[in-house]
Amino acid sequence: MAIDAEKLKSLVEGEVLSSSFDQGRYATDASIYQIRPRAVLIPKTWTDVEAALDFANSEGISLLPRGGGTSQSGQTVGDALVIDFTKHLNKVEHYDAKKGCITVQPGLVLDDLNRRLKTDGWWYPVDVSTASRATLGGMAANNSCGSRSIRYGKMQDNVEALEAILANGEMHRFAALRPDAALDTDMRALALREEVEIRARFPKVLRRVGGYNIDALLGDAPNMGQLLIGSEGTLAITKSLDLKLSPTLTTKTLGVCHFPTFHAAMDAAQHIVKLNPVAVELVDHNMIRLGRGIPQFKPIVDRFVKGEPAALLLVEFAETNAENRRRLSALGDLMAELGFRWGDPGKREGGVVEAEDPSFQAEIWGVRTQGLNIMMSMRSEGKPVSFVEDCAVPLEHLADFTTKLTEVFRKHGTDGTWYAHASVGLLHVRPVLNLRQDMGLRKMRAIAEEAFDLVAAFKGSHSGEHGDGIVRSEFHERMYGVRMVRTFAEVKDRFDPGGVMNPGKIVRAPKMDERSLTRWPENYDPQNRSTVFDWSDWPGGLTGAAEMCNNNGACRKSTTGVMCPSFRVTGDEKDLTRGRANVLRLALTGQLGKDAFTSDQMAEAMELCVGCKACKSECPMSIDMAKMKAEVQAARVASVGLKLRDRIIASLPRMASAATKLAPLANASRGLAHFVGFSTSRKLPAFKRAFAGKPDGEVLLFADTFNRYFDPETLAAAQRVIERAGFSVGVLSIKGRPLCCGRTYLSAGLPDKAKAELERTTIAMRDALDAGKVIVGLEPSCTLMFRDEAVNLISDWTADDGAQILTFAEFIAQHSDHLTARSETKVMVHGHCHQKAMGVAQTTVDVISGIEGAKAQMIESSCCGMAGPFGYQAETEEVSRQMAELSLAPAVRAALPDTVVVADGFSCRCQIADVAGREAMSLAKLLDRMTCL
Ligand SMILES: Cc1cc2nc3c(=O)[nH]c(=O)nc-3n(C[C@H](O)[C@H](O)[C@H](O)COP(=O)(O)OP(=O)(O)OC[C@H]3O[C@@H](n4cnc5c(N)ncnc54)[C@H](O)[C@@H]3O)c2cc1C
Ligand code: SF4
Ligand code: SF4
Repeated sequence: MAIDAEKLKSLVEGEVLSSSFDQGRYATDASIYQIRPRAVLIPKTWTDVEAALDFANSEGISLLPRGGGTSQSGQTVGDALVIDFTKHLNKVEHYDAKKGCITVQPGLVLDDLNRRLKTDGWWYPVDVSTASRATLGGMAANNSCGSRSIRYGKMQDNVEALEAILANGEMHRFAALRPDAALDTDMRALALREEVEIRARFPKVLRRVGGYNIDALLGDAPNMGQLLIGSEGTLAITKSLDLKLSPTLTTKTLGVCHFPTFHAAMDAAQHIVKLNPVAVELVDHNMIRLGRGIPQFKPIVDRFVKGEPAALLLVEFAETNAENRRRLSALGDLMAELGFRWGDPGKREGGVVEAEDPSFQAEIWGVRTQGLNIMMSMRSEGKPVSFVEDCAVPLEHLADFTTKLTEVFRKHGTDGTWYAHASVGLLHVRPVLNLRQDMGLRKMRAIAEEAFDLVAAFKGSHSGEHGDGIVRSEFHERMYGVRMVRTFAEVKDRFDPGGVMNPGKIVRAPKMDERSLTRWPENYDPQNRSTVFDWSDWPGGLTGAAEMCNNNGACRKSTTGVMCPSFRVTGDEKDLTRGRANVLRLALTGQLGKDAFTSDQMAEAMELCVGCKACKSECPMSIDMAKMKAEVQAARVASVGLKLRDRIIASLPRMASAATKLAPLANASRGLAHFVGFSTSRKLPAFKRAFAGKPDGEVLLFADTFNRYFDPETLAAAQRVIERAGFSVGVLSIKGRPLCCGRTYLSAGLPDKAKAELERTTIAMRDALDAGKVIVGLEPSCTLMFRDEAVNLISDWTADDGAQILTFAEFIAQHSDHLTARSETKVMVHGHCHQKAMGVAQTTVDVISGIEGAKAQMIESSCCGMAGPFGYQAETEEVSRQMAELSLAPAVRAALPDTVVVADGFSCRCQIADVAGREAMSLAKLLDRMTCL
């Protein structure tokens, strides 16, 4: 049902989003559920939130506050007006570094907070795995917990007080109980009335986050803040949080305990915690196997995994160095006592691998984090489903519980992927199910019922970390009993008698297996479109690939890596990989109406995607939005045609040859480019005399359009450097016009033309390779096209063929033994996004660093923002500049005058010149100038 969006817009300063695409972008969190919100408010100020509450009360609709939207239980979806706090209400309101007191707004992301605190020796210790995008407001409402919760507890242990608005519009401070506040005294009276029941029914495990924390109102220090924490936006909307900070953990050490069986690892946890570690995390044999299969991780896994254990426990200590050493040694002794000692025939194979070096520890944690992501990225119709993934039992029962749960899975013909916060008895396990089928939903329900009965029998908690949401709220009676569930309803009704605040979560929840609430509703209709690329690796083709996005939100990270530059600039869900994947999935399954795939709204969703491919390498599910955008572009061009400007860009490889011959005229006419939609504030690159090169050689340069016509000096420099290394150098060619990779056609939405170019070029490449030649490309996006898109577009071109087309840096790396610098040179390298996505950016740094007398350092940058024509288009030029300003331009401006800036991408060099006012050069030019061979 729609709301009166115009009325709401007139009441607020922030944005109101109400189109079907906007609703689609906010219809999911990281759970299996999907409910379209009525609309979305992006409040600019707290006054907007108050106005939204008035509006909701007068219009009879519900409100759903939202942070990063990473919840796994469905608490962040609803038939409501969503209020997204992340864009504006994300500030630190007050900070006293001396006292360690801080007050923050709810939309602040945990990593951003910790970055700010780091220099003062503080950190916020609820270290959730989603720290790069989880907000403090969402964490508090979920009562989140980190892997070090055995030391630091849950959110409720780390928040002093919260300021929040009630459904009736009153502001309330939630902290130590105030006898003069009616709400506080009512809640205390309710808790005292139910004291016997609470003490009998609340599970006595650290990891209980389900229900309302009414137990916090018992005893000598009743606390209303703790009651609000974990309430999943159902009681009040948080305006600010006073947080308890902790001193940073400086010295840490890690023991990697090896076990011959999964059961043995689970059983050992109860003994290991007696050594007071800060974390005990499980890594199972699946993760070890997957880690070994990834070239990047294999050497690390080989270093910390001995033999073929069935499971590992990563045990972390964080005391003084001396104490850490003592505890690590005690851990070895304990393992031996438990019967696990290397090479002792009388004992079970096992023991401890010690990791005292901080960088080794970081590598081990990295494998664990990534391994987890890989386990979740299963490309089959059945997927690991999150619904019994949050059970916590007393540690002494962990091993038995695991065995019994495995039996439940087997009984229902499935298996699970396991990981665990073993220190606190919490098992994350996801059975593999296909929820498109009714059978899948039925199995989910049956497994949930049996699993939660088991949890109740072991006196555990079925919500140990991820909250209740839709998936577990209906099961509260099993854990808490009928009376306590009625008490929870009383709590809800005292706070929110009209049911405005996120209804249907914690109390009065719908059935967890109600199909209409899932991502696969009755009208789910996967379409079988013909596509540009071969998507057959995904069951369901392109639709299946779009469905891989499980909304975990990793693309919202803002500091490390590249993904996602457009979101980093705008802060809008629309410009996020997740936002794009969601509307694609909905369009491809008939949930956004006819022709949604080629609609203006879809084009708008893709407009700021620069095709950097960062998502392909950084998204845990490997969502390849650059390829998906190419599909949308192609379908759109087929449906509505191509603008003149885009036609000019697409046919640059063909036109450039003629333009070069008439260079003065062509360059003069650049001033008229704005008439066809180029920006007036950028000058298009000037055509130069085209690079000719020699017809043949042992090494053949793939002379791409950009270097050939705009920067021929780079090709000439490459030729000289390679000749100095002892090879004859020619240019890869075929009869007729110069060769091209087809990228400009592909980006414009003309895949057939792109294929035609690729076919010509791959024929020439194959002939050259067959003749024993080496092919070297200078422009990263053109050269790497043969390792990526070409493999998918050209039937007889394989990944092995593509791997033989070397970047210039890769070629030099193989022949650089005798390079020396003419003088001391300091170099900063900006990696092209495609170099980063394909894992070859570091090679440029390594080549330079390998030269005696040279020092190179990679600039920590996201996309430069130029991205081919993106920076020159009138409508995207400003965003392009903002992308450069995120990190690259400031880093380049801060570089000392004698530091050389190297960028292998032609557009990156143009952007650096335009935005940072500095000339960057290609690696080829640098080596030509600075080295002797
Ligand atoms: C891969 C993955 C790993 C995860 N790992 C962990 C983990 O290690 N530990 C853990 O605890 N959780 C984990 N989670 C779950 C989730 O990331 C956390 O619960 C996180 O804290 C949620 O933060 P968010 O900003 O995304 O909240 P959201 O999902 O946006 O919101 C969570 C709840 O908070 C409410 N809310 C948001 N803002 C407000 C506000 N201002 N006032 C009132 N209510 C509000 C929402 O209505 C919702 O009910 C994981 C999830 C994923 C996908
Ligand atoms: S696009 Fe990738 S990183 Fe972003 S939410 Fe989806 S799966 Fe996660
Ligand atoms: S290709 Fe780049 S800009 Fe596009 S969605 Fe992926 S990360 Fe974002």
